[in-house]
Amino acid sequence: MVKNLTSIQSAASRPARLAALKQSFQDWNSSPDLLTRLARRLSTTLSLETQLGILVEEIQGVIPFDAMNYRHRIARQDFVFSTGMGGPHRCEYALNLDGHYYGTLTFHRRQKFSDEELSGFEMVIAAAICPIRNSCQFIAIEQAALTDSLTAIGNKRAMDEDLVRAAALSGRHGTEWSLVLCDLDHFKQINDSHGHVVGDHILARTAEQLERSIRTSDTVYRFGGEEFAILLPHTSLEEAREVADRARDAISRIRVDGGDEPVGVTASCGVAVHLSDENPEQWLIRADEALYRAKAQGRNCTRTFAMIS
Ligand code: GH3
Ligand code: MG
Ligand code: MG
Repeated sequence: MVKNLTSIQSAASRPARLAALKQSFQDWNSSPDLLTRLARRLSTTLSLETQLGILVEEIQGVIPFDAMNYRHRIARQDFVFSTGMGGPHRCEYALNLDGHYYGTLTFHRRQKFSDEELSGFEMVIAAAICPIRNSCQFIAIEQAALTDSLTAIGNKRAMDEDLVRAAALSGRHGTEWSLVLCDLDHFKQINDSHGHVVGDHILARTAEQLERSIRTSDTVYRFGGEEFAILLPHTSLEEAREVADRARDAISRIRVDGGDEPVGVTASCGVAVHLSDENPEQWLIRADEALYRAKAQGRNCTRTFAMIS
């Protein structure tokens, strides 16, 4: 009986609630109030850069400033956003939420900020921090999807994406791109003799050594179990062969504790320079053919894919 009465009352007030919803929707979309508009605009995107641009626009309307900087390190990469030229006065806010840090915002101006303006910044930041946190987490998740969890270098997906970009850029402005494939020799035997834990240590150390043997513009990937790749912009076939030999040398110096004795490993490399009009798959296949020859011709060596080699 009581239940019926409640449902009748609730049905009767439904049109009123719907009208209120409509009004609130209109207010949400057209509200002149800064915080409502800011929250609405920030919620439309998960791009941290776009959000910071929105923040600049909205704050400028109430608190003039000459420059705003944001910096954060997300998933081992620096994220920096800057707009304007700094003045001598500045105020800085570390963005913390639920015990987690989401970067530092700094405002600069020629004139000193008043106390009222400072509390204005705090109110705006309080409204912006949740969407900023979401965008930071989104970057971290995107990065994790491109990262190999054992070695913390790029995975196959990252390599595929970068090869597409490299193939498109290759040849423009006279840029040569080379690809080195690097496969550990007889790695199955190492696992079989010393166990997977030792094998995993060797894989992690290999990634470290590869990263050490390249320039900052080059990128290293683990695209298979014991298969690594190096993508090198501005690099000819001959230069890439030297990088491959340096990488092999560094790998051959790795020693991992295997219980009775230190365990070492060697690697074979295949190298191919990108040819104009070649798609990423064709490029990869040629590098793989060179690697196949390195394996067939005794391992622990580098072979290049050249028209005559
Ligand atoms: P080759 O010189 O011809 O390359 O011989 P290989 O033994 O290195 O090559 P094969 O393809 O026969 O074996 C690769 C081995 O890599 C098999 C697998 O046990 C090992 N492996 C793949 N992924 C992992 C991993 O994540 N951890 C460890 N420890 N081993 C792995
Ligand atoms: Mg192998
Ligand atoms: Mg292999």
